[in-house]
Amino acid sequence: MAGTRREMALVALLDDITAVAAATDDLEEACRAALSAVCEVTGWPLGHLGVPAADGQAFVSSGVWVGPIERFPLLHQIATAIRFAPGTGIIGQVVATGQPVWSRDLTADALAVRLLGGRDPGVRAAFAFPVIAVDGVAAVLQFFAEQVIARDEPLLRVMGAIGYQLGRVADRRTLRAAVHDSRARLQQIVDASVEAFISTDAAGHITEWNAAATRMFGRSRTQMLGHLVHETIVPERYRRADEAGRARFLATGQSKVLGRRLELTALHADGSEFPIEIVVWASREAEAWAFHAFVHDITERRRAEQALRQAYAAEQATVARLKELDAAKDAFIATISHELRTPLTTLSGYLELLGEGEAEPAQQRMLQAMTRNTARLQNLVEDLLAVSTLAAGELRVNAQAVPVRPALEEAVHATSAQARSSGHHIEVTIDDGVQQVSADHDLLVRAISALLSNAVKYSPIDTPITVHASAQDGQVAIAVTDHGVGITAEELPQVFERFYRTAYAYDNAIQGVGLGLWLVKTIAEAHGGTATATSTPGRGSTFTVCLPVAEAA
Ligand code: ADP
Repeated sequence: MAGTRREMALVALLDDITAVAAATDDLEEACRAALSAVCEVTGWPLGHLGVPAADGQAFVSSGVWVGPIERFPLLHQIATAIRFAPGTGIIGQVVATGQPVWSRDLTADALAVRLLGGRDPGVRAAFAFPVIAVDGVAAVLQFFAEQVIARDEPLLRVMGAIGYQLGRVADRRTLRAAVHDSRARLQQIVDASVEAFISTDAAGHITEWNAAATRMFGRSRTQMLGHLVHETIVPERYRRADEAGRARFLATGQSKVLGRRLELTALHADGSEFPIEIVVWASREAEAWAFHAFVHDITERRRAEQALRQAYAAEQATVARLKELDAAKDAFIATISHELRTPLTTLSGYLELLGEGEAEPAQQRMLQAMTRNTARLQNLVEDLLAVSTLAAGELRVNAQAVPVRPALEEAVHATSAQARSSGHHIEVTIDDGVQQVSADHDLLVRAISALLSNAVKYSPIDTPITVHASAQDGQVAIAVTDHGVGITAEELPQVFERFYRTAYAYDNAIQGVGLGLWLVKTIAEAHGGTATATSTPGRGSTFTVCLPVAEAA
């Protein structure tokens, strides 16, 4: 019967202490209440609280005693003087093991004998148990009785449970400190941020305003806290929308703004407006919504974009103007070449007639010179016409199966007068199996003639020139090779450009305007082919035109 009553009292004790532990955040206060309650229920007269020393290396007396400690001065003196390192005394043993410890008689217990040094503390039995928090033993509750008492397991079990309950108080304290620390860290980050950081409550009252916000808006934290965001930094015309957006989110949980990067206009204290980039998000704090935003001033970026747009527009205008000029020039060339063509044809016709007639040898020479020069003029006019046609995108390729040999011979014939006068011999060789190319006959002859004319112009008198046709990957390669001056490696990549001429051509006043190779390349590419060159200065050059093979009918 007595046993049962005591057990009920112990359970009630545990309940009481659980309630106390839940109600307070003050560990010492909770432990003091537990010491009193345990003494009362168990009849043990003395309770004592051990706590971690300031350096965290040992435990010491907290100075908190319950019961008539003044009757036991020696015990008081020893408990106050000693640092209970783990394993030292009853308290040290509890700390070392994390378990309750019982001593039926301190004067006969190895744990206490050394501390007592043969002196009588006036007490005999003792027990102690730890307050267990998540990060270790937070305190030790210790009890003394004047008589020898055997170890009481049920009592110790309840004490162990009480130790765990008190541990929750310590945990709450640790948690609060951690929350406090992390809040402080967050505040530091927000304060040091180069971005403006602003928080508001649900209605839009400003609750946070960092140093960057002060710099950006020209308004101090104290000026802004508590003021409505839409009445201060939002320009007048956007205020209704800003307020309505918040209200819509609170009512429906929907927002077009939250979590997105937006570009908006903000109002500075001096009344000026400036562009900002802003990200807003919402959080729920103590049952109420709060809004937070990082704000970035993008005035500079906008300025750079504007400058870029202006530069682009200016460039477009220049390009358009250049195109206009180019078109005007092409039209001019076309008109002039057409106008020149007719009188030149008349001239060459009459010269031909005169050449057939009787003439003095001196006159004959003059007539020949006139014929040569008229032919040159006609060539130039034809090149110019081709340029204006191509520039207008009017090159019409009438591709047919063209037999290779006759076409090459026609090209040789076209340059024969020029070759003859400089003593060049042109040899045509065609590999077996090469028969027809798919090409516009006139353009093909023209391209090869241009290459032959160059070969004559840029190689010394009497050196051989060859035209060689071969099969190459489904194409016919027509290569014109001379043993002339050649082209330097730096100049070679540019010779196909319109109006490009090498230093050699300029320095030696070789006739030409730099259109021949450009025409060759344009003609080759219009057929889906290529024009390429290799050259060794002082040794000669090879220009190759590749055109598609025409399947034999
Ligand atoms: P051009 O009217 O000047 O001959 P082209 O377009 O036919 O114009 O040739 C461009 C330049 O390439 C020439 O000025 C010349 O310097 C160089 N060139 C062309 N063919 C040869 C060649 N067979 N040997 C050396 N240089 C050449």
